[in-house]
Amino acid sequence: MSGRRAMVVEDEIELAKVVGGYLERDGFEVTVIHDGLQAVHRARDIDPDLIILDLGLPSLDGVEACRQLRTFSDAYIVMLTARSDEMDTLIGLSVGADDYVTKPFSPRELMARVQALLRRPRGLQGNQETPETRVFGALRVAPAGRDVWVDGEAVSLTRTEFDVLAVLSERPRMVFSRRQLIDAVWGAAWVGDEHLVDVHVGHLRRKLGDDPSEGKYVRTVRGVGYRMGTG
Ligand code: CA
Repeated sequence: MSGRRAMVVEDEIELAKVVGGYLERDGFEVTVIHDGLQAVHRARDIDPDLIILDLGLPSLDGVEACRQLRTFSDAYIVMLTARSDEMDTLIGLSVGADDYVTKPFSPRELMARVQALLRRPRGLQGNQETPETRVFGALRVAPAGRDVWVDGEAVSLTRTEFDVLAVLSERPRMVFSRRQLIDAVWGAAWVGDEHLVDVHVGHLRRKLGDDPSEGKYVRTVRGVGYRMGTG
C-alpha cells in the first residue's frame, strides 16, 4: 500500500526518530512533530491516516491534543503513556484514541498494534452481510454509510466506537466477551489489556446519551461481556 501518511508526535527526539523509522519501513510517509499544538495545526494539512501521540507533550498535552484532533480527523490514534497508571486515568477521559501503548515498549510491539488497527476497516467491510439499518429503540445503526442516529439526530463516533457498535449490532442476541470483541474489532493478533474494550464502550454509551457505566443500548452482561439492548 502506498500513500499512507503517519504523524509521530513525541517530544523525546530519539524515540520519535526510532518510531518514525519503523513506520517509514512499513511504507508510511512520516511527519515527526515534538509539540502538541504544532501537531494539531499540522494534522489539518497532512490529513494523516495514523497518529502516534505521546501523552506528555510541551504546549498541549496528548489528551487535549487528541480531543482537538478528533474534532476534524478520523485518523487512527495510538496514545503513548509513560506509566500504566496513566492508562487508568485515560480510561476515565473521553479522549477518542483507538489504542494505548505503555512505555517502555518495543517498536515491534507498537508496529504490531498499528498493523492490527490498519487491518480493521477492510475486515469489517468484508464482513457486512446485512447493510440495512439496524434499529434498537431510538437508536439506528446503518453500517453501509457508518451512520448512527439517536432520536433522529446523527451521532459522531470514532472509527473504533463505530466498529464496536457494528459488531454488537450485527448479532444483537449474542453476548460478546471482551476477547471476542477484540478479535472482531482489533484483530486476533492484538495483545494487551482487554479492558480497552470497556474504555470504548464507555465513550460509545456517553455519545449515545446513555449512562457510561450501564447503558440501555450496549448492555453489560456481568462476568461475560456485552450485548445489544433494545433501548
Ligand atoms: Ca513526552
